[in-house]
Amino acid sequence: MPLPTRTLKRGRLRAIVLLLVAAVIGACSGVRPAATPPTTAAAATRGSGGINQPGHRDKPHVVLVSFDGFRADYLETFDLPSFRRVKQRGAAARTMRPVFPSLTFPNHYSLVTGLRPERHGIVGNSFYDPVRGQSYALSDRDAVGDGTWYRGEPIWVTAERQGMVAACFFWPGSEAAIGGIRPTYWKPYDGEIPNDDRVKAVLEWLRLPDERRPHLITLYFSELDSASHRSPLGSPAVGQALQSLDRTLGVLLDGIDALAIRDQVYLVLTSDHGMVETATSQAIALDSLIDTTDVRMGFGGPVASLHVAGGSTGATLVRNQINSRLQRGRAYLRREVPARFHYRADPRIGDVVVVMDEGWTLHASPPEARPDRPRWGMHGWDPVLPSMAALFLIAGPGVRAGVTIPAIDNVDVYPLLTELLGLRAPADLDGQPGRIHRQVMR
Ligand code: AMP
Ligand code: ZN
Ligand code: ZN
Repeated sequence: MPLPTRTLKRGRLRAIVLLLVAAVIGACSGVRPAATPPTTAAAATRGSGGINQPGHRDKPHVVLVSFDGFRADYLETFDLPSFRRVKQRGAAARTMRPVFPSLTFPNHYSLVTGLRPERHGIVGNSFYDPVRGQSYALSDRDAVGDGTWYRGEPIWVTAERQGMVAACFFWPGSEAAIGGIRPTYWKPYDGEIPNDDRVKAVLEWLRLPDERRPHLITLYFSELDSASHRSPLGSPAVGQALQSLDRTLGVLLDGIDALAIRDQVYLVLTSDHGMVETATSQAIALDSLIDTTDVRMGFGGPVASLHVAGGSTGATLVRNQINSRLQRGRAYLRREVPARFHYRADPRIGDVVVVMDEGWTLHASPPEARPDRPRWGMHGWDPVLPSMAALFLIAGPGVRAGVTIPAIDNVDVYPLLTELLGLRAPADLDGQPGRIHRQVMR
């Protein structure tokens, strides 16, 4: 249904105001926030229109897959024949470092934009934006589908703007019109859709005639992450989720091998972060550390984002009080967050950031003890911890077979995707062009 013009105009005005605010914030912090592609009505019609421009039709296809919560070392610690098949055919990174915080939405959006959260704006799975006076949450369909929350240019927008058809069977951000553009094919997120149906749809896309066949396809599986959050990591449930995903990957591999275009398909297997065990005894209540009256928690967990009333005096007081009582983590003013986390520029991050030690969490209301669930998996901690390391495997034409390259950063994946697809990438990314490409290609 067409939106009333007034709503569109207000939406555009709002986007422009938000961009200006973001630009001013960036100028003050010294870190440039990423530009969002223009949101004008003209740009909205500048997708591919579902038809590949003739210059793209001989280009390869990239299937970018995310296995949420696949820890890098699962490749060695579990017997996974389909993953092994990809590893033997192609190249693997020893590990892939997630961005901070090692949560699902920030990392998926970094993988597809080449930007870190302080620039792309998705600073947590949930967060509060003091400039908008609104909250974003992965469980809030309206927010997740609202393009004005997202900065930077996801790979499907890069493709569509350059006349190349893109398709997403789920990916954080893919439901929103970002800069007015969505992938030609996309689905509202529904975790109940069976994994095999997702694979079937991807294979159908790859069987479309070359005029309409998407060159960039994303595919997402939550099964392992969900199982890991319910159980200890050594439990049968986690092993079963991995075996189930390995079977699903086998269906995808067999399907690709049966295509006429099988030699023109790159398969890029990733995850967003690893996983480590936590327990109720390692969960701390914020109100056991400070008086929370003037504090709004943007999000809690392995990292906590606190918005504090009273300007920098209020924030400093809260930071000092937390640090005087907290044994298993450290609170920072936003401008003091360790530089290697690249987590300062955006006010969505909060006035005070608490970084918890591995396995420990901070909450407004901690989870209750449950005898049936003594320990379970969690993520969000320091990206350099081996437990947070993510998966990266690539196979396809010209990829070196059977090699393992040293650790990579997930922000380098977006430039790689543009290189494989022959697309122009925006300048000034956090990821570096060529860094993965020159290591994995013959
Ligand atoms: P996390 O809380 O970081 O473990 O997030 C993982 C969860 O994110 C999954 O179990 C999904 O329920 C959810 N999720 C993943 N992709 C999407 C999406 N595109 N839209 C909404 N929720 C999603
Ligand atoms: Zn995740
Ligand atoms: Zn998770």
